[in-house]
Amino acid sequence: MSRTAEKPGVYLNDRVVALEEARVSVLDHGFLYGDGVYETMRVYDGVVFMMEEHLARLERSASLIGLRLPKSARQMKLSIFETLEACGHRDAYLRVTVSRGEGPIGLDPALCPRPTFFIFADRLRHPSRGNYEEGVRLAIVNTRRNLREALDPQIKSLNFLNNILAGMEARKMGADEALMLNAGGQAAEGTISNFFFVKGGALCTPSAGCGILMGITRDVVLELARRLDIKVIEGEFGAAEIFEAQEVFITSTIREVVPVRLLEGGAAKNFSVGPVTKLLMSEYRKEVYSYVENTKAAGPSIWGFTE
Ligand code: PMP
Repeated sequence: MSRTAEKPGVYLNDRVVALEEARVSVLDHGFLYGDGVYETMRVYDGVVFMMEEHLARLERSASLIGLRLPKSARQMKLSIFETLEACGHRDAYLRVTVSRGEGPIGLDPALCPRPTFFIFADRLRHPSRGNYEEGVRLAIVNTRRNLREALDPQIKSLNFLNNILAGMEARKMGADEALMLNAGGQAAEGTISNFFFVKGGALCTPSAGCGILMGITRDVVLELARRLDIKVIEGEFGAAEIFEAQEVFITSTIREVVPVRLLEGGAAKNFSVGPVTKLLMSEYRKEVYSYVENTKAAGPSIWGFTE
């Protein structure tokens, strides 16, 4: 299996295709209505970090919108590995998208007999070093996070306008990422990240009940904090309380743990990269490293190639 030139890997429905050949119908309900789900994963030296967890979340998102995934978890893994073989990059961004599929105009999912399955893997664009050394700017925006009872943020759906609008607002404020509050005025999450702060030595983050996507990076960070005997509080936090923080950071699969240097919105506060953030940044990288080493040591059989 020789590695090909540096190019993206693309898989559509049942096979690897060239990017130019990857065409989806204009009547695909993913395009027409944002009806579908997806996952973003990060590939480190050819190993997909937390792949099982991402596929489990894809399955959960799909089941929450009544979408039957067209492949089993094992088949999806095989498709992912075929895509990575076709992709010329070992450090990659990987996205798995499943839409409701093509069907006549109309909202009824029954109009679409076959979901569209699409994987895209490409070179990872590393966030700039400054993000980690100095931190990013985070703005509390007016756009509220979708109401759980209306469109549950636990569903990682193709309908991303809530996040796009919040991100536009943050950029207008000169910030790098938005912090969305929920309808009750409590902190929820970023547009593509989860939110953490440190106050009085405790690591605080909005609970599931605040209406957030249960981030996989968030879970890893919480597990690391518990292992390190850092007190963890998952709860409801209003804007005033957040401004009392000593440290703030955000997390996501692609960007890992990113310190926040400026929090604004109503008030404004500067932060330096604090000790808890630094510790969790380095422990997270160690965790990734050992995951990658263990996965490689376990050999290709765990991918199902030898079954
Ligand atoms: N919240 C939202 C809305 C997101 O899109 C993401 C990115 N997937 C996250 C949080 C972070 O989740 P994860 O750590 O699983 O990437």
